[in-house]
Amino acid sequence: MASYKAPLREIHFVLDDVLNVGSLSQMPVFAEATPDVLSGLIDEAAKLIEGQIAPLNAPGDAEGCKLANGEVTVPNGFTDAYRQYWQAGWVGIANPTEYGGTGLPYTLGKVVDEMTCSADVAFALYPGLTVGCFEGILASGSDEIKQTYLPKLATGEWTGTMCLTEPQAGSDLGAVKTKATPNGDGSFALEGGKIFITSGEHTMADNIIHFVLARTPDSPAGVKGLSTFVVPKFLVNADGSLGARNGVRCTSIEHKMGIHGSCTCALQFDGAKGWMVGAPNTGIQNMFVMMNLARILVGMQGLGLCELATQNAIAYAKDRKQGKAFNGGATIIDHPDVRRMLLTMKATTEGARVMAYETGMYVDISHHHPDAAVREEAQDWVELNTPLVKGFCTDSAVDLGSLAVQVYGGHGFIREHGVEQIMRDAKILCLYEGTNGIQAMDLVRRKLMLNGGRLPQRFFAKVRAESTGDMPLGFIAKPLREAVDELEKTTLWLQESYKTNPDDAGFGAVDFLRAFSLTYLGFNWLRMAKAAANHSDAAFREAKLNTAQFFASRMLPQVQLLCATVRTPAASLMQLSAEVL
Ligand SMILES: Cc1cc2nc3c(=O)[nH]c(=O)nc-3n(C[C@H](O)[C@H](O)[C@H](O)COP(=O)(O)OP(=O)(O)OC[C@H]3O[C@@H](n4cnc5c(N)ncnc54)[C@H](O)[C@@H]3O)c2cc1C
Repeated sequence: MASYKAPLREIHFVLDDVLNVGSLSQMPVFAEATPDVLSGLIDEAAKLIEGQIAPLNAPGDAEGCKLANGEVTVPNGFTDAYRQYWQAGWVGIANPTEYGGTGLPYTLGKVVDEMTCSADVAFALYPGLTVGCFEGILASGSDEIKQTYLPKLATGEWTGTMCLTEPQAGSDLGAVKTKATPNGDGSFALEGGKIFITSGEHTMADNIIHFVLARTPDSPAGVKGLSTFVVPKFLVNADGSLGARNGVRCTSIEHKMGIHGSCTCALQFDGAKGWMVGAPNTGIQNMFVMMNLARILVGMQGLGLCELATQNAIAYAKDRKQGKAFNGGATIIDHPDVRRMLLTMKATTEGARVMAYETGMYVDISHHHPDAAVREEAQDWVELNTPLVKGFCTDSAVDLGSLAVQVYGGHGFIREHGVEQIMRDAKILCLYEGTNGIQAMDLVRRKLMLNGGRLPQRFFAKVRAESTGDMPLGFIAKPLREAVDELEKTTLWLQESYKTNPDDAGFGAVDFLRAFSLTYLGFNWLRMAKAAANHSDAAFREAKLNTAQFFASRMLPQVQLLCATVRTPAASLMQLSAEVL
């Protein structure tokens, strides 16, 4: 069974020494969120997560969810652990106090998410979707809707869902057919079927609040005719008590490759009573408020699994004796190929953590900084980073899950060790909340073009400022400057070629997202090396500087190859008829 110990020293190093999380407490809204307060809370969350949630991971995977008589049973122990989790305040940690949340930084919420996802990513989806649903209603709901639903979603006493997907409408939400017909009293009757709905039915909470994408009878076709609705499992009376069961039921649950402890439901809406959230036909914009934050959350799921894979592989490699290495060592960690895999895992996980937490901080700044210009710049960073965090952290979770199995050898393929579960659990992260192909298109088609192309230019300037000048860390600063030059050249090529041949951008998008992310990680490794250079713990310092060296010499050069690949025109490949493939 995979074990999990929260990497507290790493987390504190990134927050305090690399990103200066203390700067958040200079914003009036977070005056009390000093580094000491955040640090204490992270340590406290880690205890609950390691003690109560991590032990559910393997048994929950083996047991899975069951559907009988319209009710879904989650794995043994989930209901109890979820109650402890929300009652301890971890679901609502970053939700606003106005609705009963704790009002602490979003960044802190993401650190807790990372740890929860490492411990049990399937379990983490119950609170994760709840916060997503909360955010959607908060952004667009009327006061009445907010007062009715948000207080219990904010704390996690009720759970939430996101109901978008239908059999014919996956990436293309314009094809959604679910109908919402006005009842004449301000409410709507929803008819239709949704598939793949995470946490769609269970009895872990007293009520489930569905955030549903549907269309009214007279709406235009495509995405412009979609609206959002709140549809509770149990209707809520005027005094807040629960009323009759609403007309939404679970017709089946999916049997899937991974995340077995998370129930994935087909839901049928048969005249279910719902209320419109936001203005008519603005559903796609409303959903995107929630989806953008949900994409960052999925990135945290990826980061959590990267950490789990890495720490288990390193522990196993230190223990497993097999053959004699060239350096005389007897455990597999002394074999260069095993060392290569472990360093790849460590360099990826620790570098990605900086990118993910920094994105969390930009969300906080974009929402709360008193200066509008600072908020605007932070929002640029959120826009740019979201597809990187979602795409890179989740692709890496699959890669690192596979590397963990490789490090374990045949034992990794056997269930008992738990690393094959990481590989199975990781794949879905690349698919939901917009596949990673869609993330890459978002980066290339939207984020490179937004506001006259200023988003990537901000990034290039920042990396150059950090890596230029006299510094003892030339071993990483120099390849980083070369990487950023190549990335800029490729960005300009994409911005130009998109105007005349959009297929080029589509063909190169996934490789470009990886090249961009690796450059970002190079920037992170430079900052980590600087922060660790004078660290009082010699072993920590040595590990950081060596991993930075590994990243600079073995991973950062991949940017050159990826960029050259991106700049290869796709015309001949797209002209090939589909029949001959
Ligand atoms: C376990 C699980 C949980 C889920 N949870 C939820 C949930 O809670 N709520 C919810 O609403 N949905 C949920 N989903 C659905 C999920 O979000 C969709 O599966 C996902 O959006 C992809 O849609 P699709 O499966 O129809 O694939 P398709 O859209 O058919 O995509 C197939 C392939 O084509 C590519 N593709 C499609 N369109 C384009 C394009 N325009 N450009 C480039 N490439 C493209 C995709 O990248 C992909 O590689 C869940 C799915 C699963 C399996």
